[in-house]
Amino acid sequence: MIKYTQIFQGTAFTSTSPKEVEVLTNYLFCINADGIIEKIVAPSDADYQPLLDAYEGKENFHRLAEGQYFLPGFVDLHVHAPQWAQSGTALDIPLYDWLNTYTFPIEAKFSDLDFAKDVYQDVVSTLLANGTTTALYFATVHKEASLLLAEICAEKGQRGLVGKVVMDDAEQNPTFYRDASTQTALADTEEFILAVKELAKSTKQGVYPVVTPRFIPSCTDDALKGLGELASKHDTYVQSHCSESDWAHGYVQDRFGKNDAFALHDFGLLSDKSVMAHCNFLDDDDADLFAKTGTAVCHCPISNAYFANSVVPIAHLQSKGVEIGLGSDISGGFSPSLFDNVRQAVMSSRMLEDGVNTALPAAERGVQNSRITINEAFYLATAGGGESLSLPIGRLAQNYTWDVQIIDTKLATAKLPIFDAQEDLHDIFQKIMYLARPENIREVWIQGEKVHARK
Ligand SMILES: [Zn+2]
Repeated sequence: MIKYTQIFQGTAFTSTSPKEVEVLTNYLFCINADGIIEKIVAPSDADYQPLLDAYEGKENFHRLAEGQYFLPGFVDLHVHAPQWAQSGTALDIPLYDWLNTYTFPIEAKFSDLDFAKDVYQDVVSTLLANGTTTALYFATVHKEASLLLAEICAEKGQRGLVGKVVMDDAEQNPTFYRDASTQTALADTEEFILAVKELAKSTKQGVYPVVTPRFIPSCTDDALKGLGELASKHDTYVQSHCSESDWAHGYVQDRFGKNDAFALHDFGLLSDKSVMAHCNFLDDDDADLFAKTGTAVCHCPISNAYFANSVVPIAHLQSKGVEIGLGSDISGGFSPSLFDNVRQAVMSSRMLEDGVNTALPAAERGVQNSRITINEAFYLATAGGGESLSLPIGRLAQNYTWDVQIIDTKLATAKLPIFDAQEDLHDIFQKIMYLARPENIREVWIQGEKVHARK
C-alpha cells in the first residue's frame, strides 16, 4: 500500500462549480509529503476500509470529532497588510481624504522595521486564525519592510503573495510617503522580486513576489511601463486597484481618455497573473478585456460599501466569463474575516437587485439578476480565488493542496444552532457560512502543515 504522510477522515464542503457545493460525507483525504491531496476516498470505495485498517490509531491519522467539518482555506485576494494598524478607523470619510489623512501617514511608518514586524506578525497570525490560507498583500513602498512581510508569511506557513508598493509621482503623492524617483521605484521592485524568489526556494507553501503599482493615480507613465516590463521579464503576479470609485475612475479617464482596464493593459499590466481590486465601474468592453487576458477581479464588498460609491455587478461579470475572487481589503474593509466578506457579498448583491431608493417604484429600483447565493460567495472566497491566481488551491479535490480550516459547530462558547442530528448537510453548510466566528475555526492547515490551532 502507498504510504501517505497524513490521512484525514471527516465531512467536507467544497465547490464543484460557482453555484454548487458538494458535500463529501465522511471521506478519507490522503496527503503526500508535498502537502498535496493525492487521493480522496469515499466510504463506498474498495480501498476505504483497507486504508482505515492501515492508518487508524497512528499519529498521522486524524479523525474529525462529531460536529466538526472541513472547509477549504480561504484565499484573500486583497489585503493592505500595513493598514491592519488602523483597521476599523476613519471609515466615514471619502477615499481621497482617507488615503491622505490616515493611510499614507500610517504606511510611512513602515520605514521602521520594528514597527513593521509588530504589525506584520499580527496581521498574518490574525488572518490564519480567520481561516485565510493564501493572501495577496500590498505592503508599503519600503523594500526592506516588504521583504520582511514575505519572510513572516514564509515562517508562519501562510502562502503569501507580496508586493512592494510603487507610488512615484511627485505631484500626486505626499513628500513623506512615496518612492524617491521612478528609477529607484523600479530598481527596488526588481531587487524585491529577486529576493522573494530566493526566499521561495526554501518555503514549502510558496511565497511569490507581486508587481504592485498602487493605482494609476499614484504612478508616472514611466513607472507603469517599467513595471509592466518587470512583470513580463520575471513572470510575476501583478496587482493594483482598478475603477474603484467615481473619483478614481474619473481620474484615469481625464488622464488617458480611456478606462482603467485599457490604460493598465497599454502598460502590459493585464495578464493571467493579474488581480485587480474592486473594478466597480468596469464596462462591458473592460470586462471582455479582463476575460480575454485572464485578469481577475477581486471583489471587496465590505470596503465597497464605504469607498466605492456603488455595488459591483458580480453576477454580470461572472456571466461575461471574468475570473473573480474575494478580498477583505483591510483596512478599507474593517474585517480580517472572509466569512464576513462572504456574507456582505450576498447582502450587497441583494440590495443591488432590489434597489434602495423607496421613492422609486419597485420595478425601477434595482438591477435585475444581480443577486448571488451563499454558495456563489463561498466559491469566490475559495475556488474562485484559486482560479484567479492559477494555483491548485481553494478546493478539496485530488491534486489540490491540503489547505483547510476545521470548523467546530459544537463549541460551547460559539455553538451553532443545530438541533437535529439528521439535519441536511447543505443547511449545516449555510449555518457555518453565516454564523461561524473565529472561535469555531479550531485548526488551520496549509500545504499539509498545521499552522494554527485554537486552544
Ligand atoms: Zn486596496
